[in-house]
Formats: sequence, C-alpha cells, structure tokens
Amino acid sequence: MEHSSDVLIVGAGLAGLAAGRDLARAGLSVRILDKSRGVSGRAATRWLELNGKIVRVDHGAQYFTAKNDQLRILIPDLVKHGIVREWAQGFPILRHNGIKSRTAGHPRYVCPDGMSTLGKVFLQGLESQDTPLPLETKALVVGLHKSDEAGWKVELEDGQVRSGRALVLNMPAPQALELANEWLKPEVRIALQAVRYTPCWAAVLVLEHLPYLDWVGLEIEHPVLAWAALDHTKRAVPDPPVLVLHASAAWSQRHLELSPAEALSQIIEAAQELFGEWVGQCRTAMAHRWRYALPTQTHPWPFLAQDNLVFCGDWCGGPRIEGALESGWATAEYLIEYLKP
Ligand SMILES: Cc1cc2nc3c(=O)[nH]c(=O)nc-3n(C[C@H](O)[C@H](O)[C@H](O)COP(=O)(O)OP(=O)(O)OC[C@H]3O[C@@H](n4cnc5c(N)ncnc54)[C@H](O)[C@@H]3O)c2cc1C
Repeated sequence: MEHSSDVLIVGAGLAGLAAGRDLARAGLSVRILDKSRGVSGRAATRWLELNGKIVRVDHGAQYFTAKNDQLRILIPDLVKHGIVREWAQGFPILRHNGIKSRTAGHPRYVCPDGMSTLGKVFLQGLESQDTPLPLETKALVVGLHKSDEAGWKVELEDGQVRSGRALVLNMPAPQALELANEWLKPEVRIALQAVRYTPCWAAVLVLEHLPYLDWVGLEIEHPVLAWAALDHTKRAVPDPPVLVLHASAAWSQRHLELSPAEALSQIIEAAQELFGEWVGQCRTAMAHRWRYALPTQTHPWPFLAQDNLVFCGDWCGGPRIEGALESGWATAEYLIEYLKP
C-alpha cells in the first residue's frame, strides 16, 4: 500500500518529532517512519527485565540542558506533568589526582521514566488539542525516488513505498548521505560530507550493591572511560542500583568493531581499576555501540535544504538534544513556508 502525506519524515529522533509536531499543528499531513521499535533515537531508554520487574536505563543521552528560549519555556509544563525533572547543576570531574567538585552551573534535566519519554511527548503532543503523529516503526528506509508529480517516494526494506510532497531526513549525516547521495546537488553533498562524529561504547550495569558515592554523574579523564552515571538516581523508585559507563571517544573509535560482550568486559575491567571490585558484581549488564554518538563537526545552519528535501538533526546548528529540537523546529518553519499554496 502507498500512503501519501504533505511531509514524510524518515527518523523519529527528537528533531524529526519536533518538526512533525509543528507541521501537524500548521495543518499539514505528516507521516513518520523509523527503523527502530520505538521513538526518540539516541535519546534512548532500554527496558531490562529483572525478576519480573522492568528496569529503565538511559543508554544514550544522559540528560539535557534548556538554554534556548523555545525549549526553556516548555520546561515548567513538562516538570508539572512529571515528564522531566532537574537532576543536577553540573558534575564533578575525576582526574588522575582524584575527584574535583565544580561550582554549580545550569540545570541538567532528566526524564524519571527514561529519556525516550521526551520523544513520546512530541509524538503524542504537548497541548490538549494535539493528536498523536502518524508513525510507523520497524520501517527501515532503503531507497529514495524523486517524481515530479508526487514529490518524493521512499522505499521500505520490505518493498513498500511511502510518498510525500516534501521529505525530511532526520538521521546522522553519513546515513542521510548514503540514502540520498544520487539525488544531491554538489554543494549539498559537500555539506553532508563535512559533518564528523565521535562514536561511543555505552555500558549498562545493574548492580548487586553500591557503596556510598557523593555524585550522580561523573566526568572522567581516563584513556578508557569518559563518563559514569548512577542511572537509578533519575527514577522515582531508585531500585536496583544501575551504573552507566561511557567509553572515551578515542577508545570507542579504536575498539568500534569489538563484539558487545568483549567491549563490556574491557569497560568493566577499566571501571573496576578506577572504582573498585563492586563494579564487576552485576545482576545483568549490556553494552551498546553508538557509531554516530556526538557530532564534532556540525553544519552551520539549523537545517540543510535542497528544495523539498530537508536534512535535520543534532548535526545542524548546535549539537545534542537542544540542537536537535531547534533543528526540527527550524525545519518545520521552512517547510510550512515552502509548501504554502
Ligand atoms: C552515548 C550518547 C550520549 C549522549 N549524551 C547526551 C547528553 O547527555 N545530553 C544531550 O543533550 N545529548 C546527548 N547525546 C546526543 C543526543 O542523544 C542527540 O543529540 C539527539 O538525541 C539527536 O537527535 P536527532 O533527532 O538528531 O537524531 P537521532 O536521535 O539519531 O534520530 C535518528 C533516527 O533515525 C532513525 N533512522 C536512521 N536511519 C533510518 C532509516 N534508513 N530508516 C528509518 N529510520 C532511520 C533512527 O532509528 C533514529 O531513531 C548523547 C548521544 C549518545 C549516543
């Protein structure tokens, strides 16, 4: 079956969802496709089952900031509804000579039910008149076709086709480039090729027990590790203790093709040396490879457009969750104007 919409969005990351929400509010028909089982992309939450109990763990983005006005004005409402809460004002740093605390900075927000709640909020809508955005999950897009009458058609892995008068690609730049390459003007191709990322191996450890620690998140200067977080401190019921570890960009790059089991064992070994034997006493543990974790070289503008084909995400404008949302909002603004009769 072929579904047609005004705007077809590939990628239900925060940028795609933010764009979809504003486009729908402007009266345009939207359809969102994502290859995963859920929404929110790298603002990801893993649900682990432990003795019949669900343990939620943020294995992608750890927290978010709200420095820009468009996001900041949403925070009181999100807090009131229990979707978001302030977690910290900054984090101490662990160096070779010990942990150094740092003066308070600005609020770092988390979602008590897991970071992917943020994506679900944009999917479902923030205002009473909002209706859920049409979404297809487990929908891997493998090809694009341009047609003069229909705008863009995308082909799914199973051969089905979806079309839109405009197409938004919300995914890391290298993945967008691979999909759209043959249709691109040289300057657009060059802009996509210029974007750079660092990878990240993330490890999640559900622990038997936890010694007293006076931090909830810790930045780390170390060859293997870059970040540690007590993930359970974000939850309404902080049980069982969960430690999230991120490997450094350099280590992740060098060990990108390890199996998850091997990466997990090396990360645990490094963390045991740093923190103590308790790190290795896990009830369950897993590792996740983020090939495109954080953009280090971004596109200077909040989106990249070739007429009715628009690229957005955290690699456009500013990085991270704030940057992704800003990119989505700017994409919607552009397309609302572009598609005006
Ligand atoms: C380990 C890690 C830690 C991080 N920590 C933080 C942090 O603490 N604070 C912060 O603000 N940010 C953090 N980030 C960054 C933050 O997660 C991202 O900036 C933000 O989530 C990016 O959103 P996005 O919409 O640009 O893209 P994404 O979230 O990458 O969304 C892209 C979507 O496209 C889908 N997709 C890709 N290709 C296809 C295809 N062919 N067909 C269908 N669907 C497709 C994917 O499944 C995905 O859902 C972290 C990221 C990682 C990985």
